[in-house]
Amino acid sequence: MTRKETLTDVKRVLIKIGSAVLTGDNGLDLDIIEQLVDDMVDLKKRGYHIVIVTSVAIASGKHRMGITGPLKSMPQKQAAAAIGQGRLMRVYSNAFGKHRIYVAQLLLTMSDLTDRKRFLNIRNTLSTLMEWGVVPVINENDTVAVDEIKIGDNDQLAAMIANITEAHLVINLTNTDGLYDRNPNRSKKAKVIPIVHEISEVIEQAATDETSDVGSGGMRSKVQAAKKVTAFGIPYIIAAGKEKGILRDLCAGKDRGTLFLPMKEHLIAFTLRSRGKLTVDDGGKKALVEEGKSLLPSGVIDVEGDFHVGDPVLCLDSGGKILAKGLTNYGAAEVRKIMGLKTSKIQQVLGYKDYDEVIHRDNMAVDKELQHR
Ligand code: GLU
Repeated sequence: MTRKETLTDVKRVLIKIGSAVLTGDNGLDLDIIEQLVDDMVDLKKRGYHIVIVTSVAIASGKHRMGITGPLKSMPQKQAAAAIGQGRLMRVYSNAFGKHRIYVAQLLLTMSDLTDRKRFLNIRNTLSTLMEWGVVPVINENDTVAVDEIKIGDNDQLAAMIANITEAHLVINLTNTDGLYDRNPNRSKKAKVIPIVHEISEVIEQAATDETSDVGSGGMRSKVQAAKKVTAFGIPYIIAAGKEKGILRDLCAGKDRGTLFLPMKEHLIAFTLRSRGKLTVDDGGKKALVEEGKSLLPSGVIDVEGDFHVGDPVLCLDSGGKILAKGLTNYGAAEVRKIMGLKTSKIQQVLGYKDYDEVIHRDNMAVDKELQHR
């Protein structure tokens, strides 16, 4: 799948902005915030919904207090966050306010996200804000977060919010151009990996623990977050937040940063809307559900809808129960002609045979993943 294909239907974007991007000479880099907000306003005008997870409350509060060295204790960090958070919100509020867009503050901890009732409250609040065209600005509630209820860092917070908001894309803006194939501080040959199809051991090794002076995430934490988010079927991008036009370019599918592709089964099961239905006979059902096989024309007994090659379609048994969802190799008109036939007859009936199967197993999600659809 290409970048463009992955990002075509994206409308709800979660943007995580790290401390390294937002910190400047005054504690906060106001120019960068303006630049990012301008990009987000532009996306909003084009119909995107934006949710922000933002850091830098602690760094900003620390600067306000004129503290230069590291903060000594947890209470100091919490106090700095309480000072910096208000300032951070004012800056976002002013930047969006110029475009007559309102922002809303949400401060969350782990116990808010793991408690079912609170989780639902958060979800309802977020969806109402988005309905109203307001931009939610989220941070960890550092003032009350002690170790037991701490999310840890905003990369993990953003991953959890991606799930709650059912985001279509997560963009993690940081101070590097993306995930490098080796440590760029140690090797001149280091290159940004443009697309990650699957988070393998090699990829995890490429992500070192090193963090910048501000912020708590580091690349390892970003890759861990990418793992969670792509497992929900959501694409994930790591890119450089200070680069001009970065958000616009990324949403347009331009080749910047590192794109982690969503896991395919989840994408098929949860994200893509089906364009038609195929009813299968008992043999077809057995092949899909019990034998882990592809769907062949011989197993199909009925076709509903007007779908084309590559569209997602549902497979049902003769009683109408959903068995699987997959990307079809043949359009509806073609399946109507070849259903019930042996694979060897496809060429004779259609005059061509691009595939043996109607849906290949690799492009299919079977019942378990579909049960709550
Ligand atoms: N919540 C912290 C802050 O706003 C930052 C945590 C992080 O950077 O991951 O300062």
